[in-house]
Order: sequence, then structure tokens, then C-alpha cells
Amino acid sequence: MVLDKEFLKHAFKQKLTSLFAEDIIELNKYHYFTALGSLVKDYISENLMKTNKYYLNHKQKQVYYFSMEFLIGKLLESNLINLGIKNVCEEALTELGIDFNEVLSVEMDAGLGNGGLGRLAACFLDSMASIGIPGHGCGIRYKYGLFEQKIINGYQVEVPDNWLKEGYVWETRKPYKSVIVKFGGDVELIKEDDELKVIHKNYEPILAVPYDISIVGYDNNIVNNLRLWNAETVDEDFDFSSFNNGDYLKAAEYKYSVESITQVLYPDDSNEKGKILRLKQQYFFVSAGLQSILRRYEKMKLPLNKLDQYISVHINDTHPSVAIAELMRLLVDEKSMSWEEAWKITTNVMAYTNHTILAEALEKWPVDMFKKLLPRIYMIIEEINRRFCGEVFDEYNGNWDKVNEMSIIYDNNIRMAYLSIVGSHSVNGVAKLHTEILKNQELKSFYDFYPEKFNNKTNGITHRRWLIESNPKLANLINETIGTDWVKHPLELKKLEAVAYDISVQEKFANIKKENKINLSNYIKSKYNINVNPDSIFDVQAKRLHAYKRQTLNVLNILDLYNRLRENPNLDIVPRTFIFAAKASPGYYLAKQVIKLINSVADKINNDHSIRDKLKVLFLENYGVTLAENIIPCTDVSEQISTASKEASGTGNMKFMMNGAVTIATLDGANVEIKEIVGDDNIVIFGLTAHEVIEFYKNKNYHSRDIFNNDARVNKILTQLTNGFLNVSNYEFNDIYNSLLFNNDEYFVLKDFDAYVDAQNKINRLYMDKEKWMKMSIINIANSGIFSSDNTVAKYADEIWNIKKINFKNQSLD
Ligand SMILES: *Cc1c(COP(=O)(O)O)cnc(C)c1O
Repeated sequence: MVLDKEFLKHAFKQKLTSLFAEDIIELNKYHYFTALGSLVKDYISENLMKTNKYYLNHKQKQVYYFSMEFLIGKLLESNLINLGIKNVCEEALTELGIDFNEVLSVEMDAGLGNGGLGRLAACFLDSMASIGIPGHGCGIRYKYGLFEQKIINGYQVEVPDNWLKEGYVWETRKPYKSVIVKFGGDVELIKEDDELKVIHKNYEPILAVPYDISIVGYDNNIVNNLRLWNAETVDEDFDFSSFNNGDYLKAAEYKYSVESITQVLYPDDSNEKGKILRLKQQYFFVSAGLQSILRRYEKMKLPLNKLDQYISVHINDTHPSVAIAELMRLLVDEKSMSWEEAWKITTNVMAYTNHTILAEALEKWPVDMFKKLLPRIYMIIEEINRRFCGEVFDEYNGNWDKVNEMSIIYDNNIRMAYLSIVGSHSVNGVAKLHTEILKNQELKSFYDFYPEKFNNKTNGITHRRWLIESNPKLANLINETIGTDWVKHPLELKKLEAVAYDISVQEKFANIKKENKINLSNYIKSKYNINVNPDSIFDVQAKRLHAYKRQTLNVLNILDLYNRLRENPNLDIVPRTFIFAAKASPGYYLAKQVIKLINSVADKINNDHSIRDKLKVLFLENYGVTLAENIIPCTDVSEQISTASKEASGTGNMKFMMNGAVTIATLDGANVEIKEIVGDDNIVIFGLTAHEVIEFYKNKNYHSRDIFNNDARVNKILTQLTNGFLNVSNYEFNDIYNSLLFNNDEYFVLKDFDAYVDAQNKINRLYMDKEKWMKMSIINIANSGIFSSDNTVAKYADEIWNIKKINFKNQSLD
């Protein structure tokens, strides 16, 4: 199929007719979106089939990325870009009198994730397809994604995200590829012809129905697959079979309870620990995914004991870690393989990424609950653990303390991180610093036991979405400046360094930033009726709201700056616009209070005319992929100020850098690597190091009260939180106040305050020197290529999955 403009116009009109049977003048942008999406999907399908056939014919090793979250956002524009047909589509629709950008904007975000972890999975899918790795996603088709956030009277209000309401143009339901997942019941082991047979009775069968979404590679004809599973009752007419009396209602209730498995995404939240529905979700998609992988493998007519040569399964954090036991079950119980052989294959197949060292985020399941829901899987984990503990016992000469320390099952809990390490051949952290902390502290005993398993893979972001799509003007300027090699080889962005000091080039980069800022200012004016000065510094902190990310530190500095401005209205500062965007987990009370605090400070400052618009504070509601794409190109200062040691990597930091923002940061996560690559002169670093933070925790020798007593600024600000200064009740911010003073400031906000104020003053000085600032900005862009997820995924393929890129250039796939 060749897509030229005339053909497209014709096909588009035909699509409208076949879908809606109405004249084009009766239809609106939603119809146009659906028709164009559907047309693009048809176009993709051809390559999808060819890609599949190629993988099958070449017996290509494939990797399956298992993740509870895929935060993919909108797909129309990125599909058009990757297919190379964006321009022709724009021309065709324009000639039909249709506003193309409006059509792009009406797509609903697929918000099937919370934040960084889910977005990473989405970037990896885009990169795998684009560099030619046969890699697919496996996850859950949540009926409701992450809630939509509204801000009402300064507070976060959560609204359900009914993203499927109008249907989803990119998915294909494949009921004939459904599988059955079994919950509960009783397990019996019987001996039959000298073989142990497993009988699973009285279980509850759930039908897992796949919905496939095509993942289009960039300019290479490759289409991989994202398979999302939906939970349904096994017998379609089940609920009508027992129609009479109360049975009908019971049947309806049952249907509802089954479908609830894939109803909602859990908002990441420490309060939600140990919830049985969450465990159901995990086993549901993992079991369905592995069954379908095995079924496909068997089609290739290869021996089962070679599975590990053809399949890799990667688990994104511990959420899919029951996959280890489920693969053992499938091989041992259903395929009659010996335990030893199955174990060898399973550990070769599985690889695990650790995403966090926050104690409250390490998954544990109570044994009683787990056993009841997944009796056979529990038996298998017990056996894995029995053998593993035996090895530890032998290695450490009968040291029971060591066995207890490392046991997968301990204190009536199953420690999923430990299961993941024992059952995988690779364990990776997501930034150099994070991996070092895993090896030397959090997982030290496992590193000592299995040093060969541990490795680092610093996170990445797809430069196609986060530069080419979200900042087309900048992408064009880069093309004009250094050519287009960087598009397929993002490391080539480095060529920009040669022109970083060229004043005429600097000016062009500055103009594009300004144009982007004007666009965002217009959006802010229309949506919030607040005037923003596009010549002010746009200082942005956009990420999930969490105590460790320290939005509080940011807001305390703003209050201090405001105090200084009130005392001295002639204070020599560049006008600054502080922008926040963040969702808080619905059950995370303190985080929601921080949102109220930011909005209260914003109200106070934005309505104070005495400071003459030198300061503005904005909270943009409903942070998600699309809002991120709109904010990041406008950012001058990227706030990456987590308590050192707490942010495993961060990926927001990379997106901002790639768009020319200068980072103000602690030495945490990938900030450390950003500093290494841009050099000390092109980033502003402040605050405690990870080592210092860890020492303070160990020695318990930090006392936040001392800072409150000795620093007049801190004293004043904290007093302003509780004395009516902010036009809220004196009690409103008690909990924030107490967390900083009475609970001894667990995240070292007050400890880092002074250094942060200094760092912010330094930003102000640097920005006043326009040439210096633009040099910093361009050097950041020039060095961002290393953080393209194309590089990250290539390392996973090479060092973990042992998969070679398929050679796709200019060749047809069949
Ligand atoms: C990149 C991204 C994140 C992760 O941001 P961090 O600053 O790394 O926490 C979260 N949410 C969305 C929508 C993103 O695009």
C-alpha cells in the first residue's frame, strides 16, 4: 500500500462513510480521529503480519517484557511519525478542511501506568521496535487507567479515567487466543506410573482474553506487539444458564467479580499493600502471558528443553515475579519436565529489573493469603526456597542466620524481590548509583552469593516521542544545524557541542524555547486565566507527588524567595515562573496536603501585586504523558531534587535535558550520570550525597529541630505555614509541619534547604548571562543521546537477553 495524498483523501472519506454512514459535514473531530486511526491501523496490520512471519520463519529469539504498567499515552502522532506519513496525512486532512492538530489532540491518553516505571515500559517498546529487537509487551487491559486529577479549591479530586468509553481504535480483540487462568481450589499429588501427578480441583477458572496493540518501529517496517489481557467469565452464556429466581442476580454478581480483576489500575500506594485483588491481577496476566508464549513456541515445533534459546521473559520490578513459579508449574506439571531441567530453563529465561530500595515499596505477600489463592504456585515457591536455602546453608557452613536473612519465605511472608533474584539469571538496577546501592547495601547478601547476576542498565527515554514529537521546532533546528543522522543514531547529537558557543546558533535555540514558552503561556491563560511572562525563567517540577521527591523543598524555597522579595522589591532577580504538575496517590494523605500547600502558596503569590509579577507559581492539573509532552519543551530549569539515594534513576530528568533545560539536582539516580556527561559547569548540583544520607540514617545524628532553631529563614517559613499567612486555617498544614519537625524530617528537606537556596541563586546568576545559559542548554541537548532508550534497550538485548538486532534496513520482511 502506497500512501500519497490523493489516495489518503479518498481512503479517509471512504473510512468515514463505512464507519459512520454520514456526510462529512455532519461529522466532527472525534469521528475524524477514529477514521484516521482506523486507516493507520489497517496500514500497520500488513507489516504486523509480515514481521510475525519473519520471526516465525527465522525462528527468531524473542523477548517478552512483562509489566503491570504501560504508560503509552497517545499513539496516533507517534505512529504517523514512525511510519513516515505524518506530513502527507497533515496535507491530506488540511485539504479536506480539517484541523490536523485538533484531530491529534482528541485522542485519549492510555494511562495504564502510574509514572516512571510504566513510562519506561512504553519507551522500551518503542525502542525495541525501532532498533529491530523482536520484543513484545505483556500486561493488563485496565478498564480504568490512573485517575484523572482535578484541582478544586486547591485540593486534588480524583475522577475515574474512563478511557475506553468511546472505544479504542488501536486494539484488536482476539477471543480465539484466550486462555484459562485458575485460582484457588485444592491440589493433590498422586503417584502414577512412578511419576508424581498434580491434580488441581475445585479451582475457579477465569478466561483471559487478549487485546493486541501494534507497536510500530521507526522507518523500518517492523511491528511488534503489546498484548493486554482482559478478565472474563469462562462460559459466555454462563450468566443466562441459571436464569430463574435469585440465580440470575448471583450470576450477574459473579460476572462483575470476575471482571473486577482487570477493572482498575492500582495507584501506587503503600496503603494498598497486601491486597488480594492486586495479587490476582499479577497472577492473571502472568499466567495468561506465559501460556500464550508456550503455545506459540510449540507452533515452531522446537523441543521444550530449548525454550531458553528462543524466549526471554523480562519482569519489570517484582510485580510479575510469580512468573518464575508459573513457568515452573507449566513445565513440570503440564509438560512433565523434571524439576532440575525446568529450573535451568526457567532461570535462563527470566530476567529481573529492580526499581526501588524504598522499604515500603518492596513487595511481600502473606503466606496464608497467597496459599489460598494460588495453592500450587505456593507449593512451587516452597520447593524453590527449600532448595535455595539448602545452597545457602552449604555455602555458609550451616549459618542459620544467613539462611533466615536470605530465605524467600520468612516470617509468614513471601519476599518477591528474593524470589525474583533466585529465579532469574540477571538482576539489574536502573542507574549506576542505584545498582551500587543494591550491590553494597540493600541486596548485599545476594550480590555476595550471586555476583554474576548483578548488572546495571541505566534507564532511557525514546527521543522520538520526547524530542521529535513533542518539540518539532527544536528537532527541525537540530536537523538544520547538524543534519539528520541523530534521528537514527541519537549519540550523534554530540555534534551540537561544536556550535554550543556560536552566538548565532544560540539565538536560534533561544528563539525556539521562547516560542514554546509563549504557547504554554497561552494555554495557561486560557485554562487558568493567569498571565505568565514568557521572558521569565520557567522552572518546572513535574513528576509523581512523593515525600522523597521533595516538592516540599521546592515550595519552601519559593516562600523564602517571596519573603525576600517582599522585604526588598528591588531584589535583582530574573522573573521566575515555578510550575508544578503531579498526581498524588488517593490514599497518600501527606502528598495531597503538599498539593494544597503548593496551591495556597500560588494563590498568595499570584495575587500579590507588590512583587510586580517577578514571581508566579502554577500547579497544572492532571499530569500525564500528554501534559509532560507540552510542558517539557518549555522548561528552562529542571527540578530533580530527590533525597539522595531514594530516586532509583528518574527518567523525567532525561526528558528535560534532551529539550535543553538546565538541571538543578541532588546527586541521586541518573542525575549522577547526567552530571558526569555534561560536566560540572553545565548542571547545578547541591545537597547531601547518598553516602551522607545513609550515614545519617545509620547514626541517627540528624536533628531537624536544630535547623529550625538556628536558621531564621526556615523558622519564618515554617511559622508561615501555621499562622494564617497562607489564607487557610492554622491547622491546615499541621501534618506537613509535624513531618518536618516532630518526625525529624525523614527526607532531609530542612537539612538541604540552605544548599538549595544557594543553588537557586546560582541558577538566577547563570540565567542573567544569556550566552552562558544558552551554551549550557545546548551542551545538555548535545549529550542527551546516551539516554535514548535505543541505547538502553540495545544493552539489555546484548547483555541480558542475548538477542541480536534483526537487519531490517531496506529489506522486505518476508
Ligand atoms: C517521565 C514521566 C514520569 C517519570 O518522571 P520522574 O521525574 O522520573 O519521576 C512520570 N510520569 C510521566 C507522565 C512521565 O512522562
